[in-house]
Amino acid sequence: MLLGAIADDLTGATDLALTLSRGGMRVVQWTGVPQGQVDLREVDALVIALKSRTIPAGEAVAQSLTAAHALRDLGARQLFFKYCSTFDSTKDGNIGPVADALLDFADAPLTIVCPAFPTNKRTIYQGHLFVGDQLLSDSPMKDHPLTPMRDANLVRVLGAQTKRKVGLVPQAVVAQGAAAVKAAYAQAQSDGISYLVVDAISDADLLAIGTASADLALITGGSGVALGLPQNFRALGLLQDNTGGMRTPAPAGRAIILAGSCSAMTRQQVAAAKTAGLPSFQIDPLAIAAGKLSPDDVVEWVASQDAKTPLVYSSADPADVATVQEKLGRAAVGESIEHLLGAVAAQLADQGFTRFLVAGGETSGAVVAALGVEALRIGPEIDPGVPWTTSLTGRGLALALKSGNFGAPDFFLKAWNKLP
Ligand code: ADP
Repeated sequence: MLLGAIADDLTGATDLALTLSRGGMRVVQWTGVPQGQVDLREVDALVIALKSRTIPAGEAVAQSLTAAHALRDLGARQLFFKYCSTFDSTKDGNIGPVADALLDFADAPLTIVCPAFPTNKRTIYQGHLFVGDQLLSDSPMKDHPLTPMRDANLVRVLGAQTKRKVGLVPQAVVAQGAAAVKAAYAQAQSDGISYLVVDAISDADLLAIGTASADLALITGGSGVALGLPQNFRALGLLQDNTGGMRTPAPAGRAIILAGSCSAMTRQQVAAAKTAGLPSFQIDPLAIAAGKLSPDDVVEWVASQDAKTPLVYSSADPADVATVQEKLGRAAVGESIEHLLGAVAAQLADQGFTRFLVAGGETSGAVVAALGVEALRIGPEIDPGVPWTTSLTGRGLALALKSGNFGAPDFFLKAWNKLP
C-alpha cells in the first residue's frame, strides 16, 4: 500500500477516495479501523473513515492514532489526514489535536494544512478560506448545526487548536511551482514552524503543492490536495495506471433518499426534488423528542409510496435549527435525527431496499453504521467529490454519500442515471 488516509467523516473519506481513484490508484474505503485479516494486496490506497469531527478531542485523537497504527502496519508509505474543505471544527478541535498526535506518530517536524478544493469553489488566499466569492465566515457555514465557522483565517483558526507554530505559504510562492513550495517548507522547518497553511486557488496550485509534498510523512488537507499525490508514486515507479478498474454493477432493488444535512445546497436539493414531484416526508425533531415519531412511522410511510424514489429529510433552515437546538440541545437533536435515519435505513435494507442516497457527513456515518457496511469500493462520480460506491462487506448495496454542501441542485434526481 502506498497511501494511508484517515478521514474525520464518511463523506469526506469518499471524496478523497474518489480523487485518488481518478488519479489511477486502486482505492478501498473502510468505515472504522479494519479488523482481523484484511486482504489489501491489490490496493494502492486505503482510506479509513472515522466519525471523529465532532466527538470529544481526546477520543478523536485516540481513534486517529489507532487508524494510523493500522495503516502503518499495512505498509502505508505516506499518511494523509483528511478534513472538510470548509475546515469544519470547533475551538477545541478536532483538527489541531488530531494533527498534533499524527505529527508525533509520524515523527515528522512539519506538515501542510490545505483544505482547498477549487472545483467546489473552496479556495485559500493569504491564509483565508473562501467558499465561492464569500469568506468562510460569511458563508452559510457560519450557521452549521455542529461546527459553525465564524473565522476565515486558517492560521488563526488552527492556531487556537494547537500549541505548535502555524505559518503560511502565500499564493505568490505557490504560483512559482513545486520547487518554490518545497523551499518554503524547508525554510519554515528551520523557523520552528510545524504547520504551513498553503494557499491554493486553482488545481494547478494543488498539483504544485502535491509534488512538493512527496517527502512529507504526513499531509493534512481536503481531497483537493490529493490531486497531485498519485503522480509522486508513479514517478517512483510504484504505481501502475488503474483507472476505470472499479466498476461493479449496482444491485437490483428499491431506492431511497435520506437527507439529514441542513447545509444550503442540501436544502436546495430537497426543494428541487419536491418540485420535481418526488414524494417527501419531513422529520420533525420535536416529534422525535416527544416520542411521537419513530423509525417504524417513517418506514411505514416509505413502504406506502409508489415506484418513485421517496425522500425523507430533516433539513431545515438556520432559524428553525437554532430554535430546536435551544429547546433540546445541539448534540441531542443531531443524535436523535441521525439515530432515526440510521434505523430507517436498516429497516428498509431488511425490506429489500438496495440503493441509498444519503445527504450529510454525520448523517452518512450514522446510516452506514446502521447498515453494517464496512468497506466500500469507489465507483463513478455523480458530481465533484461524490461517487456511487458499492459495499464490499455485508449485503450488496449501492450508496451515494454526499457531504451536505456538495452536488448540484438536481443531485437527488440525476444521481440515479449514473448508477453503474
Ligand atoms: P453536513 O454534511 O451538511 O455537515 P451533517 O449530517 O454532517 O451534514 O450534519 C448535520 C447535523 O445536523 C446532523 O447531526 C443532523 O442530525 C443535524 N440536523 C439535521 N436536521 C436538523 C434539524 N432540523 N434541526 C437540528 N439539527 C438537525
